[in-house]
Amino acid sequence: MAVILLVEDDAGIRSALTRALTERGHAVTWQPAGLPGLQAVIDERPDVVLLDLGLPDVDGVQVLTMMRAVSDVPVIVVTARDDDADIVKALDAGADDYVAKPFGADHLEARIRAVLRRSAGQRAEGPLTVGDLVVDPRTRSASLQNRPLELSRKEFDLLYALAQRAGEVVSKRELLAEVWRQPYGGGDRTVDVHLSWLRRKLGETAAEPRYLHSTRGVGVRLAAPEAG
Ligand code: CA
Repeated sequence: MAVILLVEDDAGIRSALTRALTERGHAVTWQPAGLPGLQAVIDERPDVVLLDLGLPDVDGVQVLTMMRAVSDVPVIVVTARDDDADIVKALDAGADDYVAKPFGADHLEARIRAVLRRSAGQRAEGPLTVGDLVVDPRTRSASLQNRPLELSRKEFDLLYALAQRAGEVVSKRELLAEVWRQPYGGGDRTVDVHLSWLRRKLGETAAEPRYLHSTRGVGVRLAAPEAG
């Protein structure tokens, strides 16, 4: 069973899909427009989103781009017709799959199962290593030189988000979206405070960084200390 969020403005399609998917054992919630759909992704954390591209408030591809800024939830876009240009745009914007109307419930169900299998595979990802730092998402634990680090939930999420992109400068905006699920900026201070706590636990300071390198006005980069 999956929790499915349906973002669709057509009440007829909505009730038909809700009935078909509920009969197949899923829990279905819905929103009639793009922005409430985006909010529901943040609040409800569904397992899968079915996103209609023709929505009354915001273009579906734009909605998808905003969803991708805050969530890795699998998204299947639903297009009114087999329009290649729309489909390519949606896949480029981060859709996992698409179905073109009209489609059967069994066909849709098979697509849903396929994206759920893929996202379950991604979640089983093993530990990440950066120098002497090991971050393991399966146990939500981290260690430095084999000594376990005692991290709060947000400190762990922040460290993991940086470790996934080790060597890259990650902007505070991206960290806010990924770790705090705040898509609209603001709250740089939140990131700064957690970074300073994380630094302390890693035994370093902003003035003499080893792992956490801030680039003023841009973001922060996690990297192994240089030898010597
Ligand atoms: Ca529509």
